[in-house]
Amino acid sequence: MNIHEYQGKEILRSYGVAVPNGRVAFSVEEAVEAAKELGTSVCVVKAQIHAGGRGKAGGVKVAKSLEEVRTYASELLGKVLVTHQTGPEGKEVKRLLIEEGCDIKKEYYIGLVVDRATSRVVLMGSEEGGTEIEEVAAKTPEKIFKEYVDPAVGLQAFQARRLAFNINIPKELINQAVKFMMGLYQVFVEKDCSIAEINPLVVTGDGKVMALDAKLNFDSNALYRHKDVLEYRDLDEEDPKEVEASKFDLNYIALDGNIGCMVNGAGLAMATMDIIKYYGGEPANFLDVGGGATTEKVTEAFKIILSDPKVKGIFVNIFGGIMKCDVIATGIVEATKQVGLELPLVVRLEGTNVELGKKILEESGLNITAAESMADGAQKIVELVR
Ligand code: ADP
Ligand code: MG
Repeated sequence: MNIHEYQGKEILRSYGVAVPNGRVAFSVEEAVEAAKELGTSVCVVKAQIHAGGRGKAGGVKVAKSLEEVRTYASELLGKVLVTHQTGPEGKEVKRLLIEEGCDIKKEYYIGLVVDRATSRVVLMGSEEGGTEIEEVAAKTPEKIFKEYVDPAVGLQAFQARRLAFNINIPKELINQAVKFMMGLYQVFVEKDCSIAEINPLVVTGDGKVMALDAKLNFDSNALYRHKDVLEYRDLDEEDPKEVEASKFDLNYIALDGNIGCMVNGAGLAMATMDIIKYYGGEPANFLDVGGGATTEKVTEAFKIILSDPKVKGIFVNIFGGIMKCDVIATGIVEATKQVGLELPLVVRLEGTNVELGKKILEESGLNITAAESMADGAQKIVELVR
């Protein structure tokens, strides 16, 4: 799960990790009020969306008076911001962070992620902050330094110090930088983050080290033990189809293609997307209805798939193991009746009670194309949506 910058900064602040003072605002009036409360001569008005690259896209404005705060706040609120991370459709700005202006001397990059190759948390840093770190990684990888953390002992101060030296933090500020990194690591571990990225980390004119941006992502599987983090969830920032799916415990991810997929089991769902692509089609979604899908769940899954206007056909690929094929077939028949399905539907069933399942589909009188195998089904749906 992703949260907003201002929320990430609230968490950091609560761990003693240095961030500038700031307040969230949902309206122009609130923005002006927030700037008044901050009382600094320079304020930064920052669009809060779940995407980076806001600076370049005009989503970060420096205001030198309350009037400017008002102007920028009214410009940004309601604006659809298109950054290199939002995709061409952009994201509507509904919240602002009004933050004290910072006298930046130099920008650095600090990030914590889980490295799957070593199964460890890795602390990364670079002197090339502010810019896109992906670009630095691609063009000048020698400018990124890494420290792998032993989970038994956690991040050690000597590692943070070595990193601070490597990225050329001024000597007199090394201790501050170390404190910052240790605090960030503590947040990462205690809050079950999957990413904690500070870009930029800055050194200020008056000799402070602090986070000017904060991107925290959380492991969704651990959210049950972080009610406080869960409260930061902003459903406006998520795909409405995915939000709906999560209510029914369906694993759904929206994609760009036109073939809706309904599958049981994540592995089979991945293989289904692969085979659709192999035959020249494009999946519209990943969807794993899970092992114990009920008629209700299957119906909801159909509704969610169909709420995507791009979908031109559906491929149901079910292997009945724990799940019996007749239950799935009944669910499909029920669901297609309820939602009034008019698009081509290809169904491939295999496993327990498959004959009974096929019989139910045949006798339903619905326009369902039966497939003999996964490959057959994929070819048929690709053909039908053409
Ligand atoms: P994004 O990564 O989405 O572009 P950032 O929060 O990193 O957004 O802001 C972009 C740039 O704006 C930063 O690199 C920094 O130069 C500037 N900036 C951000 N916050 C402040 C601030 N409080 N004071 C001064 N400059 C800021
Ligand atoms: Mg940034």
